[in-house]
Amino acid sequence: MADKNQDLSSLISSFEEFFTTIYKEKITDVLLAYPRIRSVEVDYNDLERFDTSLADALIVTPELVVEAAEQAIKSRNMTLPSGTGIFEPHVKFFNGPGPDLMIENIGSKSLNELVTFKGVVTKRTDVMHKVKMAKYKCQACDTEYKVLVGRNFHEPKKCDACKKLALVPVEEEGTFTDLQKAEVQDLLEKVSGGSLAAKMEIWLEDDLVNKITPGENIEVCGIMRLKIPTNVKQKREFVYGRCVEAIHVRSLKRDFEEIELTREDEKKIIELSHDPSVEKKIFSSVAPAIYGYNEVKQAFALQLFGGYKK
Ligand SMILES: [Zn+2]
Repeated sequence: MADKNQDLSSLISSFEEFFTTIYKEKITDVLLAYPRIRSVEVDYNDLERFDTSLADALIVTPELVVEAAEQAIKSRNMTLPSGTGIFEPHVKFFNGPGPDLMIENIGSKSLNELVTFKGVVTKRTDVMHKVKMAKYKCQACDTEYKVLVGRNFHEPKKCDACKKLALVPVEEEGTFTDLQKAEVQDLLEKVSGGSLAAKMEIWLEDDLVNKITPGENIEVCGIMRLKIPTNVKQKREFVYGRCVEAIHVRSLKRDFEEIELTREDEKKIIELSHDPSVEKKIFSSVAPAIYGYNEVKQAFALQLFGGYKK
């Protein structure tokens, strides 16, 4: 434990330097938009250029490094423009090494390490609420306790004041954070023929909730975790599932706004709009390599367009 604390304080001072020099402007940007924007996004490549050993530490001990980075910002006690509340944003790293890593190749050697991979979102759960700070009350002497809930959390039982085992949780007075689970699958174009695409469960917290939708291609940067078995047989056999606690996710799709239209394109589109056979042209442009199936192609094409009756 002594080692961990020593590591933490030296990491914190490295991040203090990082955030007051090359990321100074980014911090200010987030501060001004806080709490609407609650995360400082740090490009792995910037960190690597700043200090390679810090970047290496992020890969091997991401939890510690993220904690250090967040503490480095918090310890500066920056005042919010509104004058109320404290500035304690998340720090989210992205662009980690190995973006071509496939889910099927993520093995137990990456346990608790930072992994970066691409995939397509196949499922997303409803938003759940996870306790961040739990409140306990002693039934014997009414003393109240607030306990931070982290990994490997053990429920307190004994009251420090009266030494009785009389603590009970006061659920509705805890503080909560949003949590959502999603499933990501290897990109189909990268899966070799015949084999099944590997899947990974990812956990999204707070401002990552509802950021991705099924069908979307994304890049995930997160910490690989073991899932504690829930069924008895698995528990007995020490069989663990896995999941990735997401630190950062970003969409790989090209937004329509990003597509640049030249004047030439515009001219062609207007021309096509006057073409009486434009429907047929669109229908036949669906999967042109496949012969026939005109009704199916028509159905697909029609699904691409939507709108309301005026
Ligand atoms: Zn008590």
